[in-house]
Order: sequence, then structure tokens, then C-alpha cells
Amino acid sequence: MPAEPTQTAKPLSAPQKALRKMGLVRDVDLALHLPYRYEDETRLVKLADAREGDVVQFEATVRSCEVVFKPRRQLLAVVEDEGETCTLRFFNFYPNMQKALQEGRHVRLRGEVRGGFMGRTCMHPSVQAAGGDLSTALTPVYPSTATMPQAYLRKAVQSGLAHALRQGAFSETIPAGHAPAHTWPLAQALQFLHHPAANVSLSQLEDRSHPAWQRLKAEELLAQQLSQWQSKRERAALRAPQLPQSSAHSGVLHALKSALPFVLTQAQQRVVAEIAQDLDRAQPMHRLLQGDVGSGKTVVAALAAAQCIDAGWQCALMAPTEILAEQHFRKLIGWLEPVLTPLGLCVAWLTGSQKKKERDAMLALVASGQAALVVGTHAVIQDKVQFKALGLAIIDEQHRFGVAQRLALRQKLSDEQTNPSMAKPREPHLLMMSATPIPRTLAMSYYADLDVSTIDELPPGRTPIVTKLVAETRRDEIIERIRVQLQEGRQIYWVCPLIEESEALDLRNATDTHQALCEALPGVMVGLLHSRMPQAEKKAVMSLFVQGQMGVLVSTTVIEVGVDVPNASLMVIEHAERFGLSQLHQLRGRVGRGAAASACVLLYSLGEHGRLSDTARARLRAMSDTNDGFEIARRDLDIRGPGEFLGSRQSGAAMLRFADVALDTDLLDWARALAPRMLDEHPDMAATHVARWLGGKSDFLKA
Ligand code: ADP
Ligand code: MG
Repeated sequence: MPAEPTQTAKPLSAPQKALRKMGLVRDVDLALHLPYRYEDETRLVKLADAREGDVVQFEATVRSCEVVFKPRRQLLAVVEDEGETCTLRFFNFYPNMQKALQEGRHVRLRGEVRGGFMGRTCMHPSVQAAGGDLSTALTPVYPSTATMPQAYLRKAVQSGLAHALRQGAFSETIPAGHAPAHTWPLAQALQFLHHPAANVSLSQLEDRSHPAWQRLKAEELLAQQLSQWQSKRERAALRAPQLPQSSAHSGVLHALKSALPFVLTQAQQRVVAEIAQDLDRAQPMHRLLQGDVGSGKTVVAALAAAQCIDAGWQCALMAPTEILAEQHFRKLIGWLEPVLTPLGLCVAWLTGSQKKKERDAMLALVASGQAALVVGTHAVIQDKVQFKALGLAIIDEQHRFGVAQRLALRQKLSDEQTNPSMAKPREPHLLMMSATPIPRTLAMSYYADLDVSTIDELPPGRTPIVTKLVAETRRDEIIERIRVQLQEGRQIYWVCPLIEESEALDLRNATDTHQALCEALPGVMVGLLHSRMPQAEKKAVMSLFVQGQMGVLVSTTVIEVGVDVPNASLMVIEHAERFGLSQLHQLRGRVGRGAAASACVLLYSLGEHGRLSDTARARLRAMSDTNDGFEIARRDLDIRGPGEFLGSRQSGAAMLRFADVALDTDLLDWARALAPRMLDEHPDMAATHVARWLGGKSDFLKA
């Protein structure tokens, strides 16, 4: 019996362990573990009325029952109800099953009836003696795992619910008069969802439009909003160095602005101003800067860095790959070094592949404060790296980093610089950049504690990228097209997929393609880039491509993010059907960065079944329909669900179980409006509410 899954000194049984693993520890957790569907055991049907594929309950008389051995050992029984027959088939059975199905017995059966060519059949129905009471409520079926029998779980939930209700654990936490319209009180809703009456509409239960479900969704969304508002307020109590924007016509910011080879777009100016304002406050900024690939986030980051440096603080910029970090480094050096050098400052470079001597020299520059800007990969957050005075941390492609890494960066403003008389240690400002726009609904829901700036405009002069879907069998035509592009002085990317099972195979794929293209394009420099290459070699290849000597670059997805070569005008993606949508969009964003008309060719192959999977088809269609990153993100959300957008936030705890932010927008609006008021006016209820729903997990949501 699963009476007390919470506190017991005895060793846990296997199902108890399984419960724990599912996060079902407290009575409250069990009570909030809701059915994902129901079975109707409240009625009996006539066998004649059972429709194909329905799970039904009926009573019948056993006409025959035998064990047969062909094609494999199984128990076969034929039952009859008013002249209609059905064959029951069991591949796993116990002797008592044969007993229950003795000829002449009257039995109650429950299972999915199929009307095959050979007459009606039913596989593995449940069997009991006929004539028992019918249930008065629909039978709940709970999300479960392989090691957790449904019956055990059902009992555990039942006792958890009863216990929790008895102890008043589901007292109302929504202030009186503020519950969303047309929803039930919580305790009543829970009781109902675990034991819905027989006459309730199954469809209302299944699409979760029932007022009881609405209440559960509202509660869940409210818990999420409360915890995010809470962390936002906690942040407001934190301290950060104030980095005012100098109005002087000197300094790094001024010099950088006058040196830029282009005029900022309206959108860039807007986000630069938003960030500048945040930096000028003594609370740490936590801002997400989102903008489609090529929208020009780097220069925004550089301007923020300049403001930080002018105020006398250091800035760190972290990118997920060495290639990308290096590219930032070059660009920022180009922009900033002429300004920094006269001031006795410099830009430092930190990566994992660095030689010790070089690295030590860099670490010294960072520690002394001479390095005003530090660019690098994960190496930037390692323990050894000591900043003199870190004022701003920028994370590019933030979805590629985890919570722990963000936290590590925030802690890089070490206590030494913190005035010990201050009550709270200071943190650097944090700017997170992402080219994978998060659809608005998701941003409102999952990133409510962040401020979001959006660059919704591309720099002028870009010609839209034309996207073509081309069957792999027409590869030769593509090579012809490459030839033409090369003659016009353009450069080409050719990307090969990541085959997850085998990095070696992946590599061979790229190597083979490289070989084939070398042969097909004599006299053209065709380069190869993959993640297994030594860093120095990668650098050499990349720089040949950047400088324009190399016409074609064959690569695995290492070039996925950020690489910027404006002269490249054709992107070929091989086995495009294997890529995710946002990845395809990122890759496509490598071209169309200059004024030349650019194209993206998605080569697909149909695979062994001779057809594309539905999701692959939907992804490719989305790619050819639109170039707009926000639209792509919206479609991706449709195709995949919210999980993958949220990066580390997707980790179990943060996911909504019942509500769907894309569909339950009214409830989301309600929760967004109520959360801050509740924190002000009913802090105790708010705390109870969050504890009930998130238990100890709410820290996850804050990082
Ligand atoms: P992303 O947002 O994808 O990181 P980048 O910062 O790499 O984009 O910018 C893409 C390209 O556009 C770069 O070559 C950059 O120098 C250029 N760029 C950025 N802003 C502008 C602008 N306002 N006008 C013209 N070109 C710009
Ligand atoms: Mg970028």
C-alpha cells in the first residue's frame, strides 16, 4: 500500500522509488498528478454495437477456450453475446486466466474491439466475472512509467489526494474575487478531475476546456508567474556597478560610434538606448537581446561594452564556439583597439585550446584590469579567471549555455571589488543575445523575469534569400550552379549534417562531399571544416574563406552560429531533412549578409521509406515559405512544442504540465496581471501558492 510515500524510514519499494523518480513525493504532488485520459467503465455495450477501434466493456458467454501454438503460443477464446461473437487473444497468460475463461462462463470483458477479416477480435482484454457493479465515475489513467503499475499509481494518487484534502492542503490561495471566470474552486476541481462523474463530456475533459481543468491551468500559470516576478523583485534588491553613459565627446563609446562603417538601424538604436539605460542603474540588468540572424547584434554588444569601459569597468563576451568567439574578437579588435590602445587598455582572448603561456599572459591582463574587454568561450568562466572589475557580461547565442554557466558569469564580480560595507555583494550586468527568437507567448510566460529587447529590422540593402528545396538526385544541377556563382566571384557554403549515432560517419560524409566537390570543381579552392580538426587548422581554413581565397567551404554544423562572410551568397545544406528548423534558419542566415542576391538550397533525400516524415516536411515547407525568424520560431513551436525553445529552462521543473501558453492566452494574461498584485497585497498566499506548485523547484526558474 502506498499509504505514506512521504516519510518512511523503511527502504523504499520499487514502485515507491518509481514514484519518487517521477517527482511524486508529497501528498500535494500526488494530488496534482492528474490523469491524461479516462476510461469509461460506467457502461456495458452490446457486442453488436461496439465500433471498430473503440475500447468498450461488454459481457458475453465463453464458447471455447484453448491454447494454440501457431504462429506462437497463445490463449484463444471465443465469446458470444446475443449471437455476435468475438475472438479473444492473449499472448501472455496465466493458468487462472484459462480458468476464468472456461467454456460456459459468463464474463465481463474490457478492451479494444477490432472487426478484422476473420471476424471480431480483442487483444488482451481485462476479464472478470459478469454481473459486478459498474463504476460510477470515469476511470482515470495517469501518466506513468514502465516500472509503475497503473493500479498502484491510482491508489497512491487517491490516498495522496484524500490526505491532502483532509489536511486542507488545497485551501484557496487565489485572493477572493480574483479567480478567473468560469473556473471551479481548486479542491472541487481536483476531486472532480481524479473522479469525474459518469455523465460528464469526455471531450471537454480531453481537450481540457472543462472548468475544472481551466482552474488547474490557471493555478499552474499563476505559480509560474509568481515565481518569475519574485525573482525579478529579488534582482531589484541586488546591487550592480552603475555604468553611466558619458556625454563627453571623447571616450571609447564616442570613438566607436564615429568609427562605425554604417548607420545603426532604428531597431538597433532603440535597443542600444534600452541597454544604456539599464547599465546606468545600480541594479543588475538581465536583458535578453533577440534579433534574427544578421540583424546586427554584435555592434549593439560592442556599444554596451564601450559604455561599460568608459565607466572604468571590464566587459566579458562569451560565445559558444571558438570560431564564433574568434570572429567576435577580430571584429571587436578592429573596432575597439584603435580607441583602447591610446588609453593603455586592450582586448584579451581566452579559449580552451590556448597554450599555457599565452593563457597566463591573458589571465594577467584580465586580473590587472588592463584588458578592458575579454572575449572567449567557456574558458571565460573558469575559476582561474579573475577580473579586476567586471561590470558587464555578454553571452552570445545564450540558448547554447546552461543555467550554471550564467550563474558562474554573474559571480565573476568577485568580493574583492565589492565594498565590504555594502549589505549585498554586487553582480555584473548581464546581456544575453539570441538569434532564436522566442515567440511572444513563450517569452511572456517563461522569461517574465527578464527584460527583452528585440531587433525587428534587418540592416538596409539586404536582398532576401531565395530558398529552394531540391531532391538529392539533382545534385549535379547544384554543382553547376556553384560553378556559375564562383565565376561571379561569390563564395559558397556546403553544410553536411550531424549524424548523431556516429561522429565518424558524420565526418566521412563531409569528407566524401569535400572530395567530390574538389573533383567537380578543378582549380577552385574547396576547404573542409569539422569539429574534430585541430583548432589551428580550423582557424587557417576559416581565415582563407573569410579572406576570399577559398571558393567553397564544406563543413559540418560547426559554422552554424554567427559566422559572418558577406561575400558568401549560396548555402547548400545536404540532408536538410535531418536538421531542426531553427538550425536550418541559422545556417541560412550565413548568406544574405551582403548586397548580392543570395540563395539557400535545401537538398533532401527521401530515405528508405521513400518519403519524408511529417515533421521534416513541415520544417522544409516552413523554410521555403518564410525568411522571418519570428515566423520560423512560431512554426517551430507548432512543430515541436515549447520544450526546446527554453534551453536549460526546459529542465522538467520549469515546464508547464497542464497549461499551453500558445492556447491558454486568456489565462496567461490573467496570471500576468494578478501575480504582481498578489505579491504586494497577499504575500502569504503567494508564498503558499508557489510552494504548493513548485515545491523546492522554483530556483530553477530564476537562473
Ligand atoms: P547577428 O545579429 O546575426 O549577430 P551581426 O552582428 O553578425 O548579426 O551582423 C551582421 C552583419 O551586418 C555584419 O556584417 C555587421 O557588420 C552588419 N551590420 C550590422 N548592423 C548594420 C547596419 N546598421 N547597417 C549595415 N550593416 C550592419
Ligand atoms: Mg551574432
